Amino acid sequence: MKLTFAGTGSAFCTAADNFQSNMILETTNTDTGQLARMLIDCGTDARHALHRLGLWPKDFEAIYVSHLHSDHIGGLEWIALSNYFIFRRHRVDLYLVDELIEPLWEHSLRGGLEVSDHGDSTLDTYFNVKPMAPKGSFNWHDVKMDILPVDHIVADEGKMLSYALFGETKSTRFFVTTDAIFDPDAHMPYYRKADIIFQDCELGPRHSGVHAHYDQLKTLPDDIKAKMWLYHYPAYAKPDAVADGFCGFAMPEQSFDLA
Ligand SMILES: [Zn+2]
Ligand SMILES: [Zn+2]
Repeated sequence: MKLTFAGTGSAFCTAADNFQSNMILETTNTDTGQLARMLIDCGTDARHALHRLGLWPKDFEAIYVSHLHSDHIGGLEWIALSNYFIFRRHRVDLYLVDELIEPLWEHSLRGGLEVSDHGDSTLDTYFNVKPMAPKGSFNWHDVKMDILPVDHIVADEGKMLSYALFGETKSTRFFVTTDAIFDPDAHMPYYRKADIIFQDCELGPRHSGVHAHYDQLKTLPDDIKAKMWLYHYPAYAKPDAVADGFCGFAMPEQSFDLA
């Protein structure tokens, strides 16, 4: 199993050589023996990021959605319409927790997808929707994924969760934080048991409070930082993460062997 970053940038990253933080998992389809791909999140610039990798919407068997910010779901209309009209109605399995399904359709996708060649399309017209429990798990070929709700935005009036992934292959346990506040108490059990951590990381002068900031992550124990790759960073100059004890900043198109 291989994980490749289509991009490693933040939602607002405008670096000429980077895109939003979407990832591609590749493994062997246990039924057919063919290559299978899952896209972990599909942001507004996914069509450019995937094109650079030579990939099209038809090349994915599955998409996982962590939460509803547009750097994670803004490319789904493109995927849906491309597969429906261009790629012979290729259907992608869409994995997401059940409480995201209605808002994803009603508040994000319906405006562009309800009327296509007929007027009453739904999410099921385009995708094989796979509703997941918020703390559930699913098997995708040779990987078991646990879904971990993590706090992303905590406001007086409400909270936005993201649904992180803890994956386990035959030999590797990996933790993808998706978008999360710095919350070492909540995340430490997963930090500890992971062999490799992909951690969202904010840079620059502003601490938004909705992502872990580099300055906060630096305070983690050395043995955690030593297996942590940083991603979802804006286009500021990067500090020397290796000198600070991290594996480093994941780079766009960088791949990791998780077999
Ligand atoms: Zn994001
Ligand atoms: Zn987000």
